[in-house]
Amino acid sequence: MTAGKNAIVTGSTSGIGLGIADGLAAAGMNVVLNGFGDAGEIEATRQRLAETHGVTTLYSGADMTKPAEIEALAQMAREELGSVDVIVNNAGIQHVEAIEDFPAEKWDAIIAINLSSAFHLTRATIGDMKARGWGRIINVASAHGLVASPYKSAYVAAKHGVIGLTKTVALEAAESGVTVNAICPGYVKTPLVEKQIPDTARARGITEEEVVRDVLLAAQPTKRFVDVDELAGLAVFLCSDAAASITGTALPVDGGWVAQ
Ligand code: NAD
Repeated sequence: MTAGKNAIVTGSTSGIGLGIADGLAAAGMNVVLNGFGDAGEIEATRQRLAETHGVTTLYSGADMTKPAEIEALAQMAREELGSVDVIVNNAGIQHVEAIEDFPAEKWDAIIAINLSSAFHLTRATIGDMKARGWGRIINVASAHGLVASPYKSAYVAAKHGVIGLTKTVALEAAESGVTVNAICPGYVKTPLVEKQIPDTARARGITEEEVVRDVLLAAQPTKRFVDVDELAGLAVFLCSDAAASITGTALPVDGGWVAQ
């Protein structure tokens, strides 16, 4: 049963994280939202999820580059909700540039937010999950955790790292009732992707329309963006009892991208 479980979804003020938070709340889970954005809009989202689904929702502005704030997020969730049963490590950023020009501070930020934050939140919550004999850790990796594309060195490295972390923690937790899996989306039309279209156009010397047709959707045999609801549905399934034997996996939701 997923109803009544308590979940933290990092980077859930926008895009995929918000969709997954909505999906978990619809399945009856209490949810801690996290991420940046306009304070009024975030509060409105928090209230909407609580009222629509009849669950408790909280918000933490913890910065995923700061290990102490990640620990404080876990502590807040434990104190306010009583336990943390599910974590979704989703917060992420992107930067598209050739490696010789790639700013070192962008590398550091991408590794911190897209990879290290998953380590810190897992470290802060898995002990209690193991002690209670139930837990779900879902890492939002990417098709770029399985295959590379040019000009995304930090992102591809971080996402491959997330899958390595997923497998390792899954093995450590295998006998404890805690499953650990990575979801690997293809392209989803969120602000993260919309922002990289002009950068990719510059890096490759092509138009923005050509980026969508010849770079983004060219990678996806279905020729359409993945829908946030499709990712939320998988996250809810991974939290169910039916998914108890699925652990240590990297599950592509990518319209056939990595099958090529
Ligand atoms: P998005 O830009 O819509 O959302 C990113 C979220 O992360 C936002 O809530 C933002 O506030 C939060 N965030 C950013 N920096 C943060 C920080 N330092 N601390 C806390 N929160 C922070 O992006 P999205 O497309 O929804 O991406 C979500 C995840 O999905 C990322 O890990 C991304 O790599 C992954 N992903 C996205 C796609 C895609 O096509 N959109 C594909 C594969 C994987």
